[in-house]
Amino acid sequence: MSEPINVTRSSMPDFNEYLEEIKDLWNTRWLTNMGVKHQKLEVALADYLQSSYVTLFTNGHMALENTLEAFSLTGEVITTPFTFASTTHAIVRKGLTPVFCDINKEDYTIDVTQIKKLITKKTSAILPVHVYGNVCDTIKIEELAKEYDLKVIYDAAHTFGVRIAGKSSGEFGDASVFSFHATKVFHTIEGGAVTYHDSTLQPILMGLKNFGITDYEKIDYIGGNSKMNEFQAAMGLCNLRHLKEEINKRKAVYERYHRNLSGISGITLNRIPDLVESNYAYYPVLFDGYSCTRDEIYQKLRVNGVYSRKYFYPLTSQFECYKGVTDTGDTPVAEYIAQRILTLPIYPELEFDQIDRICEIIKS
Ligand SMILES: *Cc1c(COP(=O)(O)O)cnc(C)c1O
Repeated sequence: MSEPINVTRSSMPDFNEYLEEIKDLWNTRWLTNMGVKHQKLEVALADYLQSSYVTLFTNGHMALENTLEAFSLTGEVITTPFTFASTTHAIVRKGLTPVFCDINKEDYTIDVTQIKKLITKKTSAILPVHVYGNVCDTIKIEELAKEYDLKVIYDAAHTFGVRIAGKSSGEFGDASVFSFHATKVFHTIEGGAVTYHDSTLQPILMGLKNFGITDYEKIDYIGGNSKMNEFQAAMGLCNLRHLKEEINKRKAVYERYHRNLSGISGITLNRIPDLVESNYAYYPVLFDGYSCTRDEIYQKLRVNGVYSRKYFYPLTSQFECYKGVTDTGDTPVAEYIAQRILTLPIYPELEFDQIDRICEIIKS
């Protein structure tokens, strides 16, 4: 049998390039606490993501938790259950109540027509999730946020590098949170960041990620520790240099899948709108009325050494840990999609004959 194919494979710079990048650390002995690499990466990312401010974190989840805390949110946060555990966990772990809104069938992001009826006196924010590289309807969300005076924090973990009519996905809302986990399009091994426009947030986020230390003898926040270290930042600096070519390779993979799988009854592929420059982060396929169910395809691929992922399944609102803790909400579309969606392997080095083999298994 051929080599197993995993759903993703981490991008790595050339070994010597990374060695070169971390070499000075043996002289400076400055390994963490916002050193040179950390500062360089923040500047580079603010430029790349076209954001006024960027604050780095040790991972995306802590970036999310600290951002929720930085806005001093209270009560309820409107979000979607069609996401990774992190989004909902961050809300609950910060003492807030997630209110689950349904998603739309077209791009699996929040259904903006359903938000209004979920807003109550207790609502303090909307936490929409960009899914698979698809950006939410940011215009409608902004309108609602203005009307009801709500904060908007995007979970932008899936949209690093995505641009809409030239605008970066890091420009929307009050803040956007990115993950730089090893499995993401751009990574720092573990890592994350938040982008925002309001300068007053900067010292707060800085405090929250470093024990609230404002100055050596001045502690202003009850902060924890979620700093990105120099080795992580160095990996980011290397990976950022190659990002464009990595995304281009992903694009070729994406297009190969599309050629193989389009026009098949019962198979719905993700559609990238005209003005969107995608990052080709995931390759979701919806099995809806196909001769096999999603679960059957998943199994069939598995026995052939192809590891796809039921992503996202189950919905976060249906996790064991939330039984009796949160309201599951009324999200029939999210339930429908979660039962039928499968993300296929996608990474820059995935070869065309491997893609063809995966598609043959699905079609046979
Ligand atoms: C990866 C991811 C996160 C969490 O990021 P980490 O860096 O792994 O902590 C949060 N939300 C979504 C949608 C993700 O895909």
